[in-house]
Amino acid sequence: MDHVTSPAPQTSRPPASRADRHAWTEPGVEDLGGGLYRIPLPLPGDALKAVNVYAIAGDDGVDLIDAGMALAQARERLTEALGQLGFGLGDIRNFFITHIHQDHYTLAVELRTTLRGQITLGEGERINMAAIRDVAAGRNEPGFIEMLPAMGAADLAEQVRRLMRPRLANPQPRLQWSDPDQWLADGAVLDLRSRTLRAIHTPGHTRGHVVFHDEASATLFAGDHVLPHITPSIGFQPSINRLALRDYLGSLRLMLMLPDSRLLPAHGPVCDSTHERVNELLVHHETRLAQTLEAASGWPVTAYQVAMVLPWTHRQRKFTDLDMMNQLLATGEASAHLEVLVVRGQLTRDTSAEGIDTYALPAPVTSTTPGA
Ligand SMILES: [Zn+2]
Repeated sequence: MDHVTSPAPQTSRPPASRADRHAWTEPGVEDLGGGLYRIPLPLPGDALKAVNVYAIAGDDGVDLIDAGMALAQARERLTEALGQLGFGLGDIRNFFITHIHQDHYTLAVELRTTLRGQITLGEGERINMAAIRDVAAGRNEPGFIEMLPAMGAADLAEQVRRLMRPRLANPQPRLQWSDPDQWLADGAVLDLRSRTLRAIHTPGHTRGHVVFHDEASATLFAGDHVLPHITPSIGFQPSINRLALRDYLGSLRLMLMLPDSRLLPAHGPVCDSTHERVNELLVHHETRLAQTLEAASGWPVTAYQVAMVLPWTHRQRKFTDLDMMNQLLATGEASAHLEVLVVRGQLTRDTSAEGIDTYALPAPVTSTTPGA
């Protein structure tokens, strides 16, 4: 299952024309200074349009942050872009991958079969890698489908299964999901000679997402953790994590503990301030938490019922107007917000005999009469 971004609303920013909003997807190479380049590579479908690969040029080769998706067109675009910088694909020393989604990981694996580049991936993704292989081998269905019945959306699960059946019957080549050369620990330091990067574990979007921080140049390679135009989907991954949003909010706050930096996202244009966007994302999720709490304040509700009453996307669309995959994401988002409210003690969760989770306000504390 590929990466799909959240249908959750965007925060307000100056109105940009549609053309401006997508300018970052234009093919080519953007020189960011200091031997650093942004190379957008194409993606299928028009949800995301492109993924940024960042190239760090060195004396004897080039290191990439993220690799793009294993598509002939992406490979060609990368070849052309590196050619403009005086490199060939064989000059790639390292692929430092922010997370396991196929639009970031799979081109690296394809290129590694014939070239020397070494792949690193955050060690928190081991569990997702195992889950992907279980799905590919027919041992399991993807966690995000498996969880839908508990969210009160058994019908939606059936529809998604039907939609995905052809794809699940023909899983992607095993090759694309082979292990990285190195699993990266939180805090690992990468000495590239021209730059030093520190890998920081930022779970939320996926379990093992990492960002790469270059302190000397105040630059953050943010992957999908902090995106300028959209809110990243939360926990949309093969191995489901109920507390993905709690983890994500913690990972956002972690970014505020680093000095403010230039934001180099995987989708969207380069921006000046990580802190500005992180603060917007935190406000966005608090707003959604308040709306979710309100939706659960009448009688016990499922995540699916909450998703149906909340507005979605920056256009405030109705749930029933979303396509099936976005309904799936919206249900997952509602569940993630409900779970944070449970952690905060603002809601309680009850699981029925059929395994359906419902959420309600905590019972009021009644005073007992001592000695009665
Ligand atoms: Zn992603």
